[in-house]
Amino acid sequence: MNDGDLVLRGGRVIDPESGLDEVRDVAVRGGTVVEVGDRLPPGRAELDVAGLVVTAGFVDMHSHVNDIAGLRLQALDGVTTALELEAGMSPVAAAYRNAAAEGRPVNYGFAASWALARMESVAGIVLDGSLGTFLANIGSPAWQRPAGPAEISALLTRLAADLADGALGIGVLVGYAPGTGPDEYLRVAGLAAEAGAPTFTHARDLIEMVPRAVIDGAEEIVRAAGETGAHMHYCHVNSTSQRHIGRVLGLVGRAQAAGARVTTEAYPYGSGMTGIGAAFLAPERLAERGLTPSSLTYARTGERVASEARLRELRQADPGGLAIIELLDEDDPADRELLMRSLTFPGAVVASDAMPLTWTGPAPDPLTWPLPAAAITHPRTAGTFSRALRLLTRDGGQVSLAEALGKCSLAPAQLLAERVPAMARKGRLQPGSDADIVVLDPAAVSDQASYADSTRPSAGIRHVLVNGSFVVRDGDIVAGSLPGRAVRAG
Ligand SMILES: [Zn+2]
Repeated sequence: MNDGDLVLRGGRVIDPESGLDEVRDVAVRGGTVVEVGDRLPPGRAELDVAGLVVTAGFVDMHSHVNDIAGLRLQALDGVTTALELEAGMSPVAAAYRNAAAEGRPVNYGFAASWALARMESVAGIVLDGSLGTFLANIGSPAWQRPAGPAEISALLTRLAADLADGALGIGVLVGYAPGTGPDEYLRVAGLAAEAGAPTFTHARDLIEMVPRAVIDGAEEIVRAAGETGAHMHYCHVNSTSQRHIGRVLGLVGRAQAAGARVTTEAYPYGSGMTGIGAAFLAPERLAERGLTPSSLTYARTGERVASEARLRELRQADPGGLAIIELLDEDDPADRELLMRSLTFPGAVVASDAMPLTWTGPAPDPLTWPLPAAAITHPRTAGTFSRALRLLTRDGGQVSLAEALGKCSLAPAQLLAERVPAMARKGRLQPGSDADIVVLDPAAVSDQASYADSTRPSAGIRHVLVNGSFVVRDGDIVAGSLPGRAVRAG
């Protein structure tokens, strides 16, 4: 029997893998769960967690947050591992180096970035391993045009180098570069299949939105899985499918039944957020998605975009400036039902699409806490996991707590495990698991962030440990705690 450095005493332990759901003690030592049992011997430190649920920390497959402040908001939502997989980063080695140098409250990892590799090879943009490069150039037509054979082979070379450097897969923001040929997308999927790496796609426009499109965005993902054998992960089905969620999930379900490796994720909000310079937010294209300029709220000023002229002005002046986009109506029961379908789809994981903080004044020191009021983001950054748990298990949802927790922890860990063996120790709460642990009150867990108060931390998340160290204790951030480690492939 092992003595723990820390014993979490008397909580309701839920392990989504084994199905354990019993009152137990949990002993942690050296960043690892060493024992789960009854009446464990005293640890050097003890914490009474009676009446609370003790479970595996949440693995967020879709976080664009890459700074301490934003990741602390995610930790307060139960996240212990935040991965940038959809946009990705290139060069990925620089992204890992920068994160390690600054320190992170939660574990972190990156996919290779097709969009950045394309910006480099097609538009000659210099990369620095940050999302800032993508946002700064998001609206530039130079990188969105069809690529020639030499350009495609250059971007594949960059992606292959990133995979060799430990990238977790390949993020493919194909929806942001409408000039991309379907052949290029298949080549990227083929590279991923050869490397045994998953891809993470922000889908191209659906055929219902752009009837003249070269290929339907959903069919392109499914086809790539079928033709190349690659594992194609379909990012935020909720936001890119809008009111076609039923059609898209039907297609994915049939492909899965036929053996294609397609997986999905969703976040429980009706709005999206991205750089206002994105191709699909051009004034003349808004109608494709049933939008008008006033469907957009520009984060930096909080203004609803008043006119096409103002939208053009903002796209010109600040293309990477983030904007909230109203896609589905959270107050409309039919739209809420669509969001729930995307969350409850078999195998679908909860993933936040958490966004970088926008500062309306000067950015403070990275360790400043609490956050100054000048920070603005999408409420999904702070609230996705608690909101999903609330909606799935309480407010209308019929999903068991264990199953809902599994969508936040075990399912994403399993989805990534083939490429990332370290994932076998995450998403579980068993002896040998990483001590990435969340202690929560299941009756109280709830999002509190709103569009008006977007950085308000979730309620009901009492303690969060990352690699055995407290990042959240008694519902608040532990000052200076940066125990996050890199998650890399291989
Ligand atoms: Zn996206």
